[in-house]
Amino acid sequence: MKIFKISDEPIYIAGPCSAESREQVYQTALALSKGSKTNVFRAGIWKPRSRPGSFQGRGAEALPWLKEVQDEFHVPVATEIAEPEHLDILDKYGIRIVWLGARTVSNPFSVQKIADALKGSKFSVMVKNPVYPDIELWCGTVERLIDNQVDDIAVIHRGFFPFEKSELRNTPMWEIPIEFRRRFPDIPMICDPSHIAGNKKYINDISQRAFDLNFAGLMLEVHSNPKMALSDSRQQLNPEEFENLITGLKSRKELSDDTDFKNHLEDLREKIDVIDFQLLELLNHRMKYVDEIGEYKRQNNVAVLQLRRWGRILESRLDQAHKAGLSEEFIKQMLELIHKESIARQTEIMKRKY
Ligand code: PEP
Ligand code: MN
Repeated sequence: MKIFKISDEPIYIAGPCSAESREQVYQTALALSKGSKTNVFRAGIWKPRSRPGSFQGRGAEALPWLKEVQDEFHVPVATEIAEPEHLDILDKYGIRIVWLGARTVSNPFSVQKIADALKGSKFSVMVKNPVYPDIELWCGTVERLIDNQVDDIAVIHRGFFPFEKSELRNTPMWEIPIEFRRRFPDIPMICDPSHIAGNKKYINDISQRAFDLNFAGLMLEVHSNPKMALSDSRQQLNPEEFENLITGLKSRKELSDDTDFKNHLEDLREKIDVIDFQLLELLNHRMKYVDEIGEYKRQNNVAVLQLRRWGRILESRLDQAHKAGLSEEFIKQMLELIHKESIARQTEIMKRKY
């Protein structure tokens, strides 16, 4: 039976970062079983840690604890694997859901070995995004699984290594999971706010954002006693916080069947279509002047890059953006792109010999 399908009901995956003891696993699962919303219980037993000396997980010792959760609470259990051999061990304990972690997905050799080992097996597989924002690695992992006939797949957005100082542990870069969904619309995209946040105070906002973007579900780290957690202590919720979080979230549907809604949406979208058409026409018009100026500079032996003029453009447009209530960061990025294209066109024109 497929665990991962696109539906209007969000899927919730909850459980500790790591299985630490029978008691901790049992107490967390027991508390979650009293709520109504855990579709899959998660717990890491082989933990990829950046530095040696950190808690590396209990390994196979924890398998009876996970099996107990599965048998007693009738909730399927998922854990992270990093090597093909892990699959055989899990199979013996009836654990049939696995995920590939961000570090593993960053390495095509590991992914290929695991994908080969999954061929002909009954595992459901979740694929986290790679550590760095390289969408091809993420897609490539899913393709390697599909090539090996794995047919129950979900992907997990856990954010990307932050190159700039940030209060979040990993930068969401929402445009990347959105592009992934454009390429694979039938694969459910689950958000992992715990690893994006790194601190439980940001989890609510990130979770709601994921639902606003119509994600298929959430994976959340939940620990019976987060303060004592051996890994990722600050980002884990206790079962009560988890319950409060998910009851407060508003999940959104893909679309409404209401005819008035559809008609009004259609009207508004037509307006956007017209504006986009005009924007492109205007850009084309602007580029024609850019080319004309380029030619004029060439004939007069004047350099393409005019820093003072560029400075004035930025300043005046950002001032206008500010007054109009547009995001200055957005307008700045847009102008930089336009400027880059203008420079490229004029540089080409400079090569003319006639
Ligand atoms: C985890 O889910 O506990 C984990 C290690 O995640 P990631 O691979 O996203 O860092
Ligand atoms: Mn973790």
